[in-house]
Amino acid sequence: MSHPTPDVYEQGKGMDAHNKVMREIRSRKEASYDPHEPTRVWLDEDNTPNGVKRSLTIILNTGGCRWARAGGCTMCGYVAESVDGGSVSHDALMDQIDVCLAHEEEEGDEPADLIKIYTSGSFLDEREVGARSRRAIADAFADRERMVVESLPDFVDREKIADFTRHGVNTDVAIGLETATDRVRHDCVNKYFDFADFEDACAEAAEADAEAGDDADAGIKAYLLMKPPFLTESEAVADMISSVERCAAVEGCHTVSMNPCNVQRYTMVDDLYFEDGYRPPWLWSVAHVLRETVDVDAIVVSDPVGHGSDRGPHNCQECDDLVQKAIKDFDLRQDPSVFEQVSCDCELTWEAVMEHERSFNQPLTR
Ligand code: SF4
Ligand SMILES: [Zn+2]
Repeated sequence: MSHPTPDVYEQGKGMDAHNKVMREIRSRKEASYDPHEPTRVWLDEDNTPNGVKRSLTIILNTGGCRWARAGGCTMCGYVAESVDGGSVSHDALMDQIDVCLAHEEEEGDEPADLIKIYTSGSFLDEREVGARSRRAIADAFADRERMVVESLPDFVDREKIADFTRHGVNTDVAIGLETATDRVRHDCVNKYFDFADFEDACAEAAEADAEAGDDADAGIKAYLLMKPPFLTESEAVADMISSVERCAAVEGCHTVSMNPCNVQRYTMVDDLYFEDGYRPPWLWSVAHVLRETVDVDAIVVSDPVGHGSDRGPHNCQECDDLVQKAIKDFDLRQDPSVFEQVSCDCELTWEAVMEHERSFNQPLTR
C-alpha cells in the first residue's frame, strides 16, 4: 500500500473530499420514517461469553448518526433510514420499545435473554438517546441476562454502562471499529477515530466491569468490516486477520464480529459498484479469516448479510448457502472443522483472485 504525503490531508482532500461526496450521495434519498416505529426488530440466537442465547435485536430509529450527516462512512447507508429533522423525542423512543416488546411477545415463546439495540448511530450519544430515555430503556430490560448497545467509542463511559449493570444485567458496547488499521479506517471507510480511541473505550468498559463487581459483567464487542472499498481481496483479508488479532488482545474486548461489506444504497460503495469498481468479498475470504484467527483470545463471529447476491458477500452462487451455513455454525461452536465439510470448484478462482488482484485491476471477477 502506498503512503500519502501530509498535504493529501489538506482542505478539500482526504476526509474532506470523502465527506463531500458522501453528502451528495446521501442527499439523493427521499424516504422519511415514522419516529414511533423501530427501523427493524427480530428474534434470533447469538453466541455470548455465557453461551448461545435467544436474542431480540432492535434497530431503534433515533435520528441517525451525526457523522453520517457530515458525510460519513463510505459503505453506510443507514442514515437513509433515519427520521427527518435529526432527533426523536423520549415518548417516541419509548413507543418504539413498546412495539419491540409486543413483537417479542407475539413471535417468541418466552422473553429473550439477550437484547441488542442498534441505532444506526450511537445509543450512548445523548443527542441521539438522552439520559432519561437511556435509563428508561435500561429499566425496561432490567430482568434480562445481557444487553448489547451500539456506540462510537467517543461516547462510551463507565457511568452510562452502569445504567445497565446496576440492574445486574451483563452489558456490552458494540463498537463499529471496522479495522484496527488507522490508515484503512480513515482512507477507505472514512471513519474519523483512531484505534487508540477504541482502546480507551475498552478501558472504560473494563472499569465499569470492575465497578460492577460480581453483579454483572461489562465489555466491548468490536465490529469489523471486511473489504471496505479500495482494498483488494488479499489486502482485505490480511487487514482482517491483523485486526481480529489486535482487537482480541485489548483488555475489555471479548468478542469480535467480522462482517463482510455489502453494497447499500446511497453510499460511495454503491457508486463504485455501479461503475464496476467494487465487488463485495468472497465468502471463502470470510471462512479463511475465521480459520486463521481461531486461536485468539476472544469469540470471533461473522454474520454475512445478503450472502449469495451480487450486492452481498458471495462465491459462485452454487456454494453460497453451504458456506454461509458453515459460517453460522462456526459462530455458535467456534470450531474450524465446519469448513472442512464445504468445498467447491470456485475456490480455485478465489485463490487466483487472492494472488493476482491488484488495486489497478480490481475487481478481477464479479
Ligand atoms: S457506519 Fe456508523 S459511524 Fe459510519 S456513518 Fe454509519 S452509523 Fe455513522
Ligand atoms: Zn462455489
